[in-house]
Amino acid sequence: MSRPSIAEYHRPSTVEEAWSHVSDGSPSVRILSGGTDLTISAPPDVDTLVDVARCLDHSIEARRDGSIRIGAMTTFTDMLLNDALGSYAAGVMPEMLSDLGNPLLRNISTIGGHLARGKLSDVVPVLVALDAEVVVYQGDEKQMTIQRYYDESVHRSPHLLTEVVLPVAVKRSAAAFLRFARTAFDFPMLNVCCRIDFDGHMVGAARIVCGATPLRSQRASGAESWIREHGLEARAIEAAARRAREEIHTRDGWVASAEYRSHLVEVLTSRCLTEVARRLAAR
Ligand SMILES: Cc1cc2nc3c(=O)[nH]c(=O)nc-3n(C[C@H](O)[C@H](O)[C@H](O)COP(=O)(O)OP(=O)(O)OC[C@H]3O[C@@H](n4cnc5c(N)ncnc54)[C@H](O)[C@@H]3O)c2cc1C
Repeated sequence: MSRPSIAEYHRPSTVEEAWSHVSDGSPSVRILSGGTDLTISAPPDVDTLVDVARCLDHSIEARRDGSIRIGAMTTFTDMLLNDALGSYAAGVMPEMLSDLGNPLLRNISTIGGHLARGKLSDVVPVLVALDAEVVVYQGDEKQMTIQRYYDESVHRSPHLLTEVVLPVAVKRSAAAFLRFARTAFDFPMLNVCCRIDFDGHMVGAARIVCGATPLRSQRASGAESWIREHGLEARAIEAAARRAREEIHTRDGWVASAEYRSHLVEVLTSRCLTEVARRLAAR
């Protein structure tokens, strides 16, 4: 797809220089990472691109403490093939990425561009379930939870997303991801990511996050509390899945009705928690 309206193309070598192009929030200027979303959805009045390939990092650093730092220009393919991400939280990241779009898309899409685009996503529910944080540059650097990045609409304000940080993982922890779509390459009708941490013999933390409702992500906090109180036995999982169905708000969309999405909330939550329980038992 050609973009005849583009009159200026910048390729800054520092974050400060990139910021000088985008800081005033002009709607005619856009940051360019992989370009897969921008090519399709940039409004016609965009005339300036700021290519951040030279100034943002594209590496994945597994730190000694077990946390992982992912540079914003890292592609989904590089994340999918990374060993540290492959073993983090029972491998939930590659599990989700292997079904995202198609190989050509994953070779070029970046984690920074994906999160900044802020739309329906398979990635966001997983990062929310993992309590991930993002680093943004707005004249200086700030680190915040991914939840805050969206809740406070930081993603809509002038900023450069520079890093994603996965926190130190708890020893007895597992996560799982499921999506339901009409075809393997289609956008999901619904997705769910669950993460459970054990503290001794008790559930310490529980995260149940639904995406494509069609909102980006919603936590089923009532279902999370239920699992914390009742554990991961089959009956507790069924009851938690019913709670999730009651509390997650769904809407009609072009791929699924609200009613069908609510049905999927219950089914996918139940399957996802059952898989987490299996992974924890296998450890
Ligand atoms: C055919 C197709 C299939 C897809 N299938 C799926 C799917 O199954 N599941 C799914 O979750 N997604 C899917 N997607 C969405 C896809 O994941 C996104 O298009 C992609 O991740 C965007 O990343 P990018 O690097 O190309 O972003 P870009 O297009 O470069 O940028 C996206 C937006 O973010 C801004 N931006 C870019 N980088 C930064 C930064 N570092 N800081 C601040 N702002 C920035 C840009 O200005 C732009 O507004 C699909 C997309 C396509 C085209």
